Amino acid sequence: MSAFRLPRSGAGLRSALREWLSARDDLRAEFGMGSSRPIAEQVAHEAALLQTLHDAGWTRIGWPESAGGVGGDEGGRAIVYDELAAAGIALPEAFVLLETIAPVLVRFAPELAARHLTAYLTGRQLWCQGFSEPEAGSDLASVRTRASATDGGFTLNGQKIWTTLGQFADMAMVLARTGDLCSSHRGLSMLWVDLGSPGVEIRPIRASDGRDEFAEMYFADVPVPGANLLGDLNGGWAVAMYMLQYERGMYAWLRQAALFQALNQARRTASASNADAVAAMGRAYVSLAGLRARSAGTVARLAGNEELGPEASVDKVLLSRAEQQTYEAVRLAAPDAFLLDDDPAASWARTNWFYSRAASIFGGAVEIQRTIIAERVLGMDRGANRGR
Ligand SMILES: Cc1cc2nc3c(=O)[nH]c(=O)nc-3n(C[C@H](O)[C@H](O)[C@H](O)COP(=O)(O)OP(=O)(O)OC[C@H]3O[C@@H](n4cnc5c(N)ncnc54)[C@H](O)[C@@H]3O)c2cc1C
Repeated sequence: MSAFRLPRSGAGLRSALREWLSARDDLRAEFGMGSSRPIAEQVAHEAALLQTLHDAGWTRIGWPESAGGVGGDEGGRAIVYDELAAAGIALPEAFVLLETIAPVLVRFAPELAARHLTAYLTGRQLWCQGFSEPEAGSDLASVRTRASATDGGFTLNGQKIWTTLGQFADMAMVLARTGDLCSSHRGLSMLWVDLGSPGVEIRPIRASDGRDEFAEMYFADVPVPGANLLGDLNGGWAVAMYMLQYERGMYAWLRQAALFQALNQARRTASASNADAVAAMGRAYVSLAGLRARSAGTVARLAGNEELGPEASVDKVLLSRAEQQTYEAVRLAAPDAFLLDDDPAASWARTNWFYSRAASIFGGAVEIQRTIIAERVLGMDRGANRGR
């Protein structure tokens, strides 16, 4: 990739991207924050932005050349997300799934990363994450979807739920049981499943804001080639934990970048005499500043190939709070419009406010994160206060 002349990291990357964006008012007009569309339209619309960013080289930064990237690391990707958001561009939902799934492909299945990453980065493919099941959410180790060994690979049977954008996805990263029923987290494997395979059925789920944001995925004797095993057989838990580091690290970073812009939007909307909004904006700003500081350190650790460990749960708790406080500030900035108006700004505010309610659930509920922090970071004894 010697022809690639853009800086891949640091201040050079930041200023080069800033300069490029300053001449792209068209992108801000087309993909700016502050409007909301039906989900199918949004996915198609964002694909055009993905193609543009890839053509200009920005989203190839931070991914290995072997997978179609131009080298660099998580720090470069973080700068790209930060500058896009600062320029007022709404970060595509596809970046969330990119940052949770692509690092897994790059680390555990480089040949699959080489085959799929460019298609994703150019908006021609979408992926989803199939972990949760009706009886396995917080208790992920009780996954029941089963992958039985066959001559050429596996046959998949079972059901996943709450799969973000599942109905639009081409490929899914699926956590399935390959051990016996009592094998808990030691009997799970991670598979890369082509959702066009025979036996796959996907049903959208309508969320409380009226958007078909998630889906249920049903697998009935779905063939999965052996080459689509990510990591080791029965080693799926380690793959899931590796993925979670990116969900805590890179996702939190790109989200804080977007949340600062949402808070700016609230600031522009609210009148200075709206005391509730002013107080809510102050609270949200403090939370966001804390999140950004914490998250910058976490991204640097990922870029340094450090293992994050249980303390990454702190990032998740900070993110949940910042997300909810930010959209509460957005709501209070224009409370009547939030309830009554149908214009794009009001529907954007409502959609994001509803979504923010889920921030303390998805990717690991905050109650669980607080338990991890108490027990594994602070070393508190689970039974210490019982009976007092
Ligand atoms: C917007 C959104 C997007 C999502 N996208 C995806 C996706 O793309 N792919 C995917 O696989 N999943 C996805 N999920 C599912 C998500 O990962 C689960 O909702 C989450 O793990 C919680 O599981 P659950 O819903 O089964 O709730 P439960 O595990 O049943 O928890 C319900 C409540 O009980 C609490 N609780 C449970 N156990 C304990 C405990 N031991 N101690 C204290 N409190 C406890 C929880 O904190 C929570 O408040 C998404 C969810 C949401 C809301």
